[in-house]
Amino acid sequence: MMLDYNSLLLALGVSAACLAVTLMGSWLVRRAETVLLTATIGLVLVVSGIFAYSAYVSKPELSFGIANFVLFHAGFATIWGAGKQFLTGRLAIPAIAIRALAAMVFSIVPMLSGYDGLAFIADNLAIALLLFATARQYWLARDEAPAPLLGIAALYTLTAISFVLCAAVLISEGRLVLGKAPSNWAEDLSLAVCIAGMTGIGALSLALHQWRLAARHRLEAITDPLTGLLNRRALFDQYGTRPMDPTTAVIVFDIDHFKSVNDCYGHATGDRVLKIFADELSANCHPDDTVARLGGEEFALVVKEIMPGRAEVAAERIRKAFEAREVPTDDEVLKCTVSVGVAPCRAKPLDFDAMLSAADKALYVAKRAGRNRVELAGHLHSVPSGIARSAS
Ligand code: GH3
Ligand code: MG
Ligand code: MG
Repeated sequence: MMLDYNSLLLALGVSAACLAVTLMGSWLVRRAETVLLTATIGLVLVVSGIFAYSAYVSKPELSFGIANFVLFHAGFATIWGAGKQFLTGRLAIPAIAIRALAAMVFSIVPMLSGYDGLAFIADNLAIALLLFATARQYWLARDEAPAPLLGIAALYTLTAISFVLCAAVLISEGRLVLGKAPSNWAEDLSLAVCIAGMTGIGALSLALHQWRLAARHRLEAITDPLTGLLNRRALFDQYGTRPMDPTTAVIVFDIDHFKSVNDCYGHATGDRVLKIFADELSANCHPDDTVARLGGEEFALVVKEIMPGRAEVAAERIRKAFEAREVPTDDEVLKCTVSVGVAPCRAKPLDFDAMLSAADKALYVAKRAGRNRVELAGHLHSVPSGIARSAS
């Protein structure tokens, strides 16, 4: 072999260190992605463990061996934690600590008792278990981005298998005392698999991170941050460009005297009222309907009218549900109402702008007629959208 085991080990350490730097750089750009920080910490521990192991390979001193076990098990447990955090969104520090400590105890106790062969068997098995568990996290998360996630899961699995082989060879040799670092074909194979696996996992993890960021940006661009509903832009993207389906009705809602809610109870209470209305809106509509916040205290609902009159029924249900809601404030209970304009579906298809204007005009009529009521748009064809808009 042109390069000896220890040189390759050091090469692995250096490339893992570079990956740690890259991950840390990605985290610095977007601090909210703490999973990157978790992965970086795990990798730094593993890199340190690689250098400790390299020292043990050249000079099998007990302290190097122990340092290697401690760093590897802390590192691989943290990498498992990063996978879990990727899947669940939560960092489970106690679960990481338990796994790291268990792995350390299983390998350090035999090491201190002089059974270094046994210690390396336990070490390899513990690492294999942590890697299988890590693979499982990405496997469970596979729906989010199948290609990179299945790739990562496969590479962790392969790496885990290589550690199982190392343990298996040591077990079959049956030597409980080695006096030096284990050296056999499985160790060489495992090192090669680790180099390939690490490179692949590193590249795929970065791709995955980009993928997740892009998906999040796409979602943020169409979401109203206060209510979580679609925003105005999303609604117009969905319906604004093509003629409406003739069975579609458009309903607009405007909370009554909302300005005085803000004035009397504060902006925070106003925001709470908006969220409560958004909840009622979502709870009282069909999954196929489109719910959006048009802006301020104005909302829109686009519904398929399977039966004539369904839109009015839905509008009335939402108006009633909101009227019944009580909003606790500091010293009293606040009740709010909403006015609704409905542009029902028509035999002759109209574009979305015209439907929305008609609903707006009906809403204006509802306001004039005393608020807290549903008004149906009349003759759509006679409503020039410019006038309807200025009326709203
Ligand atoms: P009307 O019954 O005629 O609809 O009266 P109104 O007071 O509801 O109507 P107006 O459109 O004058 O008031 C809307 C208010 O909504 C004004 C604005 O300060 C408030 N508003 C807009 N966006 C938000 C928001 O995100 N949070 C809160 N708390 N208030 C908002
Ligand atoms: Mg308004
Ligand atoms: Mg209002």
